[in-house]
Amino acid sequence: MNIHEYQSKQLLADYGVTVPDGHPAFSVDEAVEAAETLGEAPWVVKAQIHAGGRGKAGGIKIAESQEQVREYADELLGSQLVTHQTGPEGQTVRRLYIEEGVDIANELYMSLIVDRDREGIVLMASSEGGVDIEQVADETPEKIHKRLADPQLGLAEFQARQMAFDLGLEGGSVFEAVETMRNLYDLFTDLDCSLAEINPLVVTGDGEVVALDGKINFDGNGLFRHPDIRELRDESEEDEAELEAKRHGLSYVNLDGNIGCMVNGAGLAMSTMDIIKHYGGQPANFLDVGGGADTETVATAFKIITQDPEVQGIFINIFGGIMKCDVIANGVVNAVEEVGLEVPLVVRLAGTNVEKGRAILEETELDIIPADSMADGAQQIIDVVGIDE
Ligand code: ADP
Ligand code: MG
Repeated sequence: MNIHEYQSKQLLADYGVTVPDGHPAFSVDEAVEAAETLGEAPWVVKAQIHAGGRGKAGGIKIAESQEQVREYADELLGSQLVTHQTGPEGQTVRRLYIEEGVDIANELYMSLIVDRDREGIVLMASSEGGVDIEQVADETPEKIHKRLADPQLGLAEFQARQMAFDLGLEGGSVFEAVETMRNLYDLFTDLDCSLAEINPLVVTGDGEVVALDGKINFDGNGLFRHPDIRELRDESEEDEAELEAKRHGLSYVNLDGNIGCMVNGAGLAMSTMDIIKHYGGQPANFLDVGGGADTETVATAFKIITQDPEVQGIFINIFGGIMKCDVIANGVVNAVEEVGLEVPLVVRLAGTNVEKGRAILEETELDIIPADSMADGAQQIIDVVGIDE
Protein backbone atom coordinates (compact mmCIF):
# COMPACT_ATOMS: atom_id res chain seq x y z
CA MET A 1 0.00 0.00 0.00
CA ASN A 2 1.18 3.50 -0.87
CA ILE A 3 0.54 6.78 0.90
CA HIS A 4 1.05 10.44 0.00
CA GLU A 5 4.20 12.45 0.60
CA TYR A 6 2.58 14.57 3.34
CA GLN A 7 1.46 11.43 5.18
CA SER A 8 4.94 9.92 4.88
CA LYS A 9 6.42 13.11 6.29
CA GLN A 10 4.08 13.00 9.27
CA LEU A 11 5.31 9.47 10.02
CA LEU A 12 8.94 10.50 9.49
CA ALA A 13 8.44 13.38 11.92
CA ASP A 14 6.83 11.00 14.46
CA TYR A 15 10.03 8.95 14.28
CA GLY A 16 12.29 11.95 14.78
CA VAL A 17 13.35 12.60 11.19
CA THR A 18 13.55 16.33 10.50
CA VAL A 19 11.06 17.50 7.87
CA PRO A 20 10.10 21.04 6.83
CA ASP A 21 6.90 22.48 8.34
CA GLY A 22 3.93 22.01 6.07
CA HIS A 23 0.17 21.55 5.81
CA PRO A 24 -1.97 19.54 3.40
CA ALA A 25 -4.59 21.52 1.45
CA PHE A 26 -7.68 20.33 -0.39
CA SER A 27 -8.71 23.69 -1.83
CA VAL A 28 -7.09 26.90 -3.04
CA ASP A 29 -8.21 28.77 0.08
CA GLU A 30 -6.74 26.11 2.33
CA ALA A 31 -3.47 26.39 0.42
CA VAL A 32 -3.27 30.14 1.01
CA GLU A 33 -4.23 29.69 4.65
CA ALA A 34 -1.51 27.09 5.03
CA ALA A 35 1.07 29.49 3.62
CA GLU A 36 -0.10 32.17 6.04
CA THR A 37 0.36 29.88 9.05
CA LEU A 38 3.79 28.79 7.85
CA GLY A 39 5.17 32.31 7.96
CA GLU A 40 7.57 33.80 5.49
CA ALA A 41 8.13 33.13 1.79
CA PRO A 42 9.22 31.09 -0.06
CA TRP A 43 6.60 28.37 0.10
CA VAL A 44 6.59 25.22 -1.95
CA VAL A 45 3.29 24.08 -3.48
CA LYS A 46 3.48 20.31 -3.98
CA ALA A 47 0.99 18.16 -5.89
CA GLN A 48 0.11 15.04 -3.91
CA ILE A 49 -0.26 11.98 -6.13
CA HIS A 50 0.99 8.45 -5.65
CA ALA A 51 3.84 8.90 -8.13
CA GLY A 52 7.26 10.49 -8.17
CA GLY A 53 8.90 12.65 -10.81
CA ARG A 54 6.54 15.51 -9.95
CA GLY A 55 9.30 18.12 -9.93
CA LYS A 56 10.22 17.61 -13.58
CA ALA A 57 6.55 17.38 -14.56
CA GLY A 58 5.63 20.79 -13.06
CA GLY A 59 3.97 19.42 -9.93
CA ILE A 60 6.33 21.19 -7.49
CA LYS A 61 6.23 25.01 -7.54
CA ILE A 62 8.12 27.54 -5.51
CA ALA A 63 5.98 30.53 -4.58
CA GLU A 64 7.45 33.86 -3.49
CA SER A 65 4.16 35.47 -2.50
CA GLN A 66 0.71 34.45 -1.29
CA GLU A 67 -0.73 35.46 -4.67
CA GLN A 68 1.63 32.98 -6.25
CA VAL A 69 0.55 30.27 -3.79
CA ARG A 70 -3.04 30.96 -4.89
CA GLU A 71 -2.10 30.90 -8.56
CA TYR A 72 -0.15 27.63 -8.35
CA ALA A 73 -2.73 25.91 -6.15
CA ASP A 74 -5.45 26.88 -8.61
CA GLU A 75 -3.38 25.61 -11.51
CA LEU A 76 -2.51 22.27 -9.89
CA LEU A 77 -5.77 21.28 -8.15
CA GLY A 78 -7.89 19.23 -10.50
CA SER A 79 -5.22 19.03 -13.19
CA GLN A 80 -3.89 15.80 -14.67
CA LEU A 81 -0.23 15.45 -13.75
CA VAL A 82 1.77 13.29 -16.13
CA THR A 83 5.12 12.13 -14.76
CA HIS A 84 7.38 9.30 -15.91
CA GLN A 85 5.77 7.16 -13.20
CA THR A 86 2.07 7.81 -13.91
CA GLY A 87 1.57 6.45 -17.41
CA PRO A 88 0.46 8.66 -20.34
CA GLU A 89 -2.99 9.52 -18.93
CA GLY A 90 -1.49 10.96 -15.74
CA GLN A 91 -3.13 11.26 -12.35
CA THR A 92 -5.64 13.83 -11.11
CA VAL A 93 -4.30 16.17 -8.42
CA ARG A 94 -6.83 16.24 -5.57
CA ARG A 95 -4.58 17.26 -2.70
CA LEU A 96 -1.71 19.68 -2.24
CA TYR A 97 0.99 20.01 0.35
CA ILE A 98 2.16 23.51 1.23
CA GLU A 99 5.60 23.47 2.74
CA GLU A 100 8.22 25.98 3.81
CA GLY A 101 11.00 26.49 1.29
CA VAL A 102 14.32 25.03 2.37
CA ASP A 103 17.74 26.44 1.60
CA ILE A 104 19.38 23.46 -0.11
CA ALA A 105 23.17 23.07 -0.08
CA ASN A 106 23.31 19.41 -1.09
CA GLU A 107 20.73 16.82 -2.24
CA LEU A 108 21.27 13.20 -1.19
CA TYR A 109 19.37 9.98 -1.76
CA MET A 110 18.45 7.57 1.03
CA SER A 111 16.24 4.52 1.21
CA LEU A 112 15.58 1.25 2.98
CA ILE A 113 14.34 -1.75 1.02
CA VAL A 114 13.85 -5.45 1.61
CA ASP A 115 16.59 -7.16 -0.39
CA ARG A 116 15.44 -10.71 -1.10
CA ASP A 117 18.82 -11.87 -2.42
CA ARG A 118 20.62 -10.73 0.71
CA GLU A 119 17.70 -11.75 2.90
CA GLY A 120 17.55 -8.56 4.87
CA ILE A 121 16.85 -4.87 4.98
CA VAL A 122 19.34 -2.84 3.00
CA LEU A 123 20.13 0.82 3.54
CA MET A 124 20.92 2.47 0.24
CA ALA A 125 22.26 6.01 -0.12
CA SER A 126 23.93 8.24 -2.64
CA SER A 127 25.44 11.68 -2.83
CA GLU A 128 23.49 12.03 -6.10
CA GLY A 129 20.07 12.85 -4.71
CA GLY A 130 17.05 14.63 -6.14
CA VAL A 131 17.42 12.92 -9.50
CA ASP A 132 16.18 9.57 -10.72
CA ILE A 133 18.04 6.96 -8.70
CA GLU A 134 17.63 4.41 -11.53
CA GLN A 135 19.68 6.73 -13.71
CA VAL A 136 22.44 6.95 -11.08
CA ALA A 137 22.38 3.14 -10.81
CA ASP A 138 22.79 2.84 -14.59
CA GLU A 139 25.39 5.50 -15.19
CA THR A 140 27.43 5.74 -11.99
CA PRO A 141 26.67 2.65 -9.88
CA GLU A 142 29.76 3.34 -7.75
CA LYS A 143 27.93 6.35 -6.34
CA ILE A 144 25.32 4.14 -4.68
CA HIS A 145 26.37 2.81 -1.27
CA LYS A 146 24.70 -0.06 0.55
CA ARG A 147 24.70 -1.49 4.05
CA LEU A 148 22.89 -4.67 5.05
CA ALA A 149 21.25 -4.41 8.47
CA ASP A 150 21.59 -7.42 10.73
CA PRO A 151 18.11 -8.86 11.26
CA GLN A 152 18.82 -9.34 14.99
CA LEU A 153 20.82 -6.21 15.77
CA GLY A 154 19.23 -3.81 13.32
CA LEU A 155 21.16 -1.05 11.59
CA ALA A 156 24.23 -0.51 13.74
CA GLU A 157 25.47 2.95 14.56
CA PHE A 158 28.85 2.25 12.94
CA GLN A 159 27.13 1.27 9.69
CA ALA A 160 25.18 4.52 9.67
CA ARG A 161 28.35 6.47 10.45
CA GLN A 162 30.27 4.76 7.63
CA MET A 163 27.40 5.62 5.33
CA ALA A 164 27.50 9.27 6.35
CA PHE A 165 31.21 9.35 5.48
CA ASP A 166 30.53 7.58 2.16
CA LEU A 167 28.14 10.43 1.40
CA GLY A 168 30.92 12.94 2.06
CA LEU A 169 29.21 14.55 5.04
CA GLU A 170 31.14 16.57 7.60
CA GLY A 171 30.76 18.04 11.08
CA GLY A 172 27.33 18.12 12.68
CA SER A 173 25.69 16.82 9.50
CA VAL A 174 27.30 13.42 10.15
CA PHE A 175 25.56 13.14 13.49
CA GLU A 176 22.21 14.26 12.07
CA ALA A 177 22.45 11.87 9.12
CA VAL A 178 23.23 8.97 11.48
CA GLU A 179 20.15 9.83 13.54
CA THR A 180 18.05 10.02 10.37
CA MET A 181 19.19 6.59 9.20
CA ARG A 182 18.52 4.95 12.54
CA ASN A 183 15.13 6.62 12.90
CA LEU A 184 14.20 5.59 9.38
CA TYR A 185 15.18 2.03 10.22
CA ASP A 186 12.93 2.02 13.31
CA LEU A 187 10.04 3.36 11.27
CA PHE A 188 10.62 0.74 8.58
CA THR A 189 10.61 -2.23 10.94
CA ASP A 190 7.89 -0.99 13.32
CA LEU A 191 5.44 -0.27 10.51
CA ASP A 192 6.15 -3.31 8.30
CA CYS A 193 7.32 -1.28 5.34
CA SER A 194 8.49 -2.67 2.03
CA LEU A 195 10.13 0.61 1.01
CA ALA A 196 11.01 3.86 2.73
CA GLU A 197 12.67 6.41 0.48
CA ILE A 198 13.80 9.97 1.07
CA ASN A 199 14.77 11.61 -2.20
CA PRO A 200 16.08 14.15 -1.70
CA LEU A 201 17.46 14.14 1.81
CA VAL A 202 19.11 17.53 1.91
CA VAL A 203 21.84 19.25 3.81
CA THR A 204 20.82 22.87 4.33
CA GLY A 205 23.05 25.92 4.26
CA ASP A 206 23.33 25.57 8.07
CA GLY A 207 24.38 21.92 7.84
CA GLU A 208 21.00 20.61 8.98
CA VAL A 209 19.83 17.29 7.51
CA VAL A 210 16.19 17.47 6.31
CA ALA A 211 13.87 15.09 4.42
CA LEU A 212 12.36 17.06 1.48
CA ASP A 213 10.42 14.14 0.02
CA GLY A 214 9.09 10.92 1.46
CA LYS A 215 7.82 7.76 -0.10
CA ILE A 216 6.70 4.86 2.07
CA ASN A 217 5.20 1.57 0.90
CA PHE A 218 3.71 -0.91 3.33
CA ASP A 219 3.67 -4.67 3.08
CA GLY A 220 -0.02 -5.52 2.63
CA ASN A 221 0.43 -8.66 4.72
CA GLY A 222 1.39 -6.58 7.75
CA LEU A 223 -1.42 -4.03 7.49
CA PHE A 224 -3.76 -5.91 9.80
CA ARG A 225 -1.41 -4.87 12.61
CA HIS A 226 -1.62 -1.17 11.77
CA PRO A 227 -5.18 0.16 11.71
CA ASP A 228 -3.88 3.76 11.81
CA ILE A 229 -1.82 3.15 8.67
CA ARG A 230 -4.78 1.55 6.88
CA GLU A 231 -6.66 4.83 7.49
CA LEU A 232 -4.11 6.63 5.31
CA ARG A 233 -5.16 4.73 2.21
CA ASP A 234 -6.36 7.03 -0.58
CA GLU A 235 -8.54 4.86 -2.79
CA SER A 236 -8.89 7.60 -5.41
CA GLU A 237 -5.23 6.94 -6.28
CA GLU A 238 -5.86 3.25 -6.94
CA ASP A 239 -7.30 1.31 -9.86
CA GLU A 240 -11.10 1.09 -9.44
CA ALA A 241 -11.38 -2.44 -10.87
CA GLU A 242 -8.54 -3.67 -8.67
CA LEU A 243 -10.28 -2.26 -5.58
CA GLU A 244 -13.59 -3.85 -6.55
CA ALA A 245 -11.80 -7.19 -7.01
CA LYS A 246 -10.11 -6.84 -3.62
CA ARG A 247 -13.48 -6.24 -1.94
CA HIS A 248 -14.65 -9.60 -3.32
CA GLY A 249 -11.49 -11.49 -2.42
CA LEU A 250 -10.27 -11.77 -6.02
CA SER A 251 -6.68 -11.23 -7.08
CA TYR A 252 -6.84 -8.95 -10.08
CA VAL A 253 -4.20 -6.94 -11.88
CA ASN A 254 -5.08 -4.83 -14.88
CA LEU A 255 -2.69 -5.23 -17.85
CA ASP A 256 -2.33 -3.68 -21.29
CA GLY A 257 -3.61 -6.43 -23.61
CA ASN A 258 -7.05 -7.23 -25.06
CA ILE A 259 -7.79 -10.79 -23.87
CA GLY A 260 -9.60 -10.90 -20.54
CA CYS A 261 -8.68 -13.95 -18.49
CA MET A 262 -10.61 -15.65 -15.71
CA VAL A 263 -8.70 -18.44 -14.04
CA ASN A 264 -8.63 -20.22 -10.69
CA GLY A 265 -5.34 -20.49 -8.87
CA ALA A 266 -2.39 -18.12 -9.20
CA GLY A 267 -0.18 -20.72 -10.90
CA LEU A 268 -2.77 -21.52 -13.54
CA ALA A 269 -3.41 -17.79 -14.01
CA MET A 270 0.30 -17.23 -14.67
CA SER A 271 0.54 -20.10 -17.13
CA THR A 272 -2.61 -18.92 -18.88
CA MET A 273 -0.99 -15.54 -19.43
CA ASP A 274 2.15 -17.30 -20.64
CA ILE A 275 0.30 -19.44 -23.15
CA ILE A 276 -1.65 -16.49 -24.53
CA LYS A 277 1.64 -14.66 -25.04
CA HIS A 278 3.18 -17.81 -26.52
CA TYR A 279 0.57 -17.81 -29.31
CA GLY A 280 1.05 -14.10 -29.95
CA GLY A 281 -1.81 -12.67 -27.86
CA GLN A 282 -1.81 -10.12 -25.02
CA PRO A 283 -3.63 -10.71 -21.74
CA ALA A 284 -5.76 -7.79 -20.51
CA ASN A 285 -5.47 -8.85 -16.91
CA PHE A 286 -4.36 -11.35 -14.33
CA LEU A 287 -7.40 -12.67 -12.50
CA ASP A 288 -7.39 -15.46 -9.96
CA VAL A 289 -10.86 -16.25 -8.64
CA GLY A 290 -9.32 -18.53 -6.03
CA GLY A 291 -9.68 -22.22 -5.31
CA GLY A 292 -13.00 -22.01 -3.53
CA ALA A 293 -14.83 -19.59 -5.83
CA ASP A 294 -18.62 -19.88 -5.96
CA THR A 295 -21.19 -18.79 -8.52
CA GLU A 296 -21.23 -15.27 -7.13
CA THR A 297 -17.45 -14.86 -7.27
CA VAL A 298 -17.47 -16.04 -10.87
CA ALA A 299 -20.18 -13.48 -11.70
CA THR A 300 -18.23 -10.65 -10.02
CA ALA A 301 -15.05 -11.64 -11.82
CA PHE A 302 -16.93 -11.69 -15.09
CA LYS A 303 -18.31 -8.20 -14.47
CA ILE A 304 -14.88 -6.82 -13.67
CA ILE A 305 -13.44 -8.23 -16.89
CA THR A 306 -16.27 -7.01 -19.11
CA GLN A 307 -16.05 -3.49 -17.64
CA ASP A 308 -12.57 -3.08 -19.09
CA PRO A 309 -13.04 -1.30 -22.44
CA GLU A 310 -9.80 -2.83 -23.76
CA VAL A 311 -11.17 -6.37 -23.54
CA GLN A 312 -12.05 -7.78 -26.98
CA GLY A 313 -12.40 -11.41 -25.96
CA ILE A 314 -12.51 -13.51 -22.81
CA PHE A 315 -10.75 -16.75 -22.02
CA ILE A 316 -12.06 -18.68 -19.03
CA ASN A 317 -9.61 -21.38 -18.01
CA ILE A 318 -10.71 -23.32 -14.96
CA PHE A 319 -9.52 -26.47 -13.31
CA GLY A 320 -12.29 -28.00 -11.21
CA GLY A 321 -10.63 -29.34 -8.12
CA ILE A 322 -12.20 -28.12 -4.90
CA MET A 323 -14.84 -26.47 -7.04
CA LYS A 324 -16.54 -28.78 -9.52
CA CYS A 325 -16.80 -27.99 -13.23
CA ASP A 326 -20.60 -28.08 -13.29
CA VAL A 327 -20.75 -25.45 -10.54
CA ILE A 328 -18.37 -23.27 -12.53
CA ALA A 329 -20.30 -23.78 -15.74
CA ASN A 330 -23.48 -22.69 -13.98
CA GLY A 331 -21.65 -19.68 -12.58
CA VAL A 332 -20.46 -18.70 -16.03
CA VAL A 333 -23.92 -19.10 -17.55
CA ASN A 334 -25.52 -17.03 -14.78
CA ALA A 335 -22.87 -14.35 -15.11
CA VAL A 336 -23.29 -14.12 -18.87
CA GLU A 337 -27.06 -13.92 -18.53
CA GLU A 338 -26.77 -11.22 -15.91
CA VAL A 339 -23.98 -9.13 -17.38
CA GLY A 340 -24.49 -9.82 -21.08
CA LEU A 341 -21.83 -10.89 -23.54
CA GLU A 342 -20.60 -8.51 -26.17
CA VAL A 343 -17.26 -10.14 -26.95
CA PRO A 344 -16.31 -13.71 -27.87
CA LEU A 345 -15.96 -16.09 -24.94
CA VAL A 346 -13.81 -19.22 -24.92
CA VAL A 347 -14.20 -21.62 -22.01
CA ARG A 348 -11.87 -24.45 -21.13
CA LEU A 349 -12.84 -26.69 -18.26
CA ALA A 350 -10.92 -29.61 -16.82
CA GLY A 351 -11.13 -31.69 -13.66
CA THR A 352 -13.98 -32.99 -11.52
CA ASN A 353 -17.36 -33.28 -13.29
CA VAL A 354 -15.93 -31.91 -16.50
CA GLU A 355 -18.49 -33.76 -18.66
CA LYS A 356 -21.39 -32.30 -16.70
CA GLY A 357 -19.83 -28.86 -16.96
CA ARG A 358 -19.38 -29.06 -20.71
CA ALA A 359 -22.93 -30.34 -21.13
CA ILE A 360 -24.26 -27.29 -19.26
CA LEU A 361 -22.36 -24.95 -21.56
CA GLU A 362 -23.52 -26.82 -24.68
CA GLU A 363 -27.17 -26.78 -23.65
CA THR A 364 -27.34 -23.01 -23.34
CA GLU A 365 -28.26 -20.69 -26.15
CA LEU A 366 -25.23 -18.62 -25.31
CA ASP A 367 -22.47 -18.12 -27.79
CA ILE A 368 -19.70 -19.85 -25.86
CA ILE A 369 -16.76 -21.40 -27.68
CA PRO A 370 -15.64 -24.59 -25.90
CA ALA A 371 -11.96 -25.52 -25.80
CA ASP A 372 -10.40 -28.94 -25.18
CA SER A 373 -7.13 -27.80 -23.68
CA MET A 374 -5.32 -24.69 -22.54
CA ALA A 375 -3.41 -24.47 -25.80
CA ASP A 376 -6.58 -24.95 -27.82
CA GLY A 377 -8.36 -22.27 -25.77
CA ALA A 378 -5.53 -19.76 -26.14
CA GLN A 379 -5.37 -20.31 -29.89
CA GLN A 380 -9.13 -20.03 -30.31
CA ILE A 381 -9.43 -16.76 -28.41
CA ILE A 382 -6.50 -15.29 -30.34
CA ASP A 383 -8.08 -16.45 -33.62
CA VAL A 384 -11.29 -14.57 -32.90
CA VAL A 385 -9.77 -11.50 -31.29
CA GLY A 386 -6.80 -11.14 -33.63
CA ILE A 387 -3.31 -10.18 -32.58
CA ASP A 388 -3.08 -6.88 -30.71
CA GLU A 389 0.07 -5.08 -31.82
P1 ADP B 1 9.47 14.49 -6.91
O1 ADP B 1 10.44 13.46 -6.39
O2 ADP B 1 8.10 13.91 -7.12
O3 ADP B 1 9.97 15.21 -8.10
P2 ADP B 1 10.24 16.14 -4.61
O4 ADP B 1 9.43 16.34 -3.38
O5 ADP B 1 11.44 15.27 -4.51
O6 ADP B 1 9.24 15.59 -5.75
O7 ADP B 1 10.64 17.56 -5.17
C1 ADP B 1 11.41 17.75 -6.33
C2 ADP B 1 12.49 18.80 -6.06
O8 ADP B 1 11.91 20.01 -5.64
C3 ADP B 1 13.45 18.40 -4.96
O9 ADP B 1 14.52 17.63 -5.46
C4 ADP B 1 13.91 19.75 -4.45
O10 ADP B 1 14.97 20.22 -5.27
C5 ADP B 1 12.70 20.65 -4.67
N1 ADP B 1 11.94 20.81 -3.42
C6 ADP B 1 10.99 19.98 -2.93
N2 ADP B 1 10.53 20.40 -1.74
C7 ADP B 1 11.22 21.52 -1.43
C8 ADP B 1 11.22 22.46 -0.32
N3 ADP B 1 10.40 22.29 0.72
N4 ADP B 1 12.07 23.49 -0.37
C9 ADP B 1 12.90 23.66 -1.42
N5 ADP B 1 12.95 22.86 -2.49
C10 ADP B 1 12.13 21.79 -2.51
MG1 MG C 1 11.55 13.17 -4.82
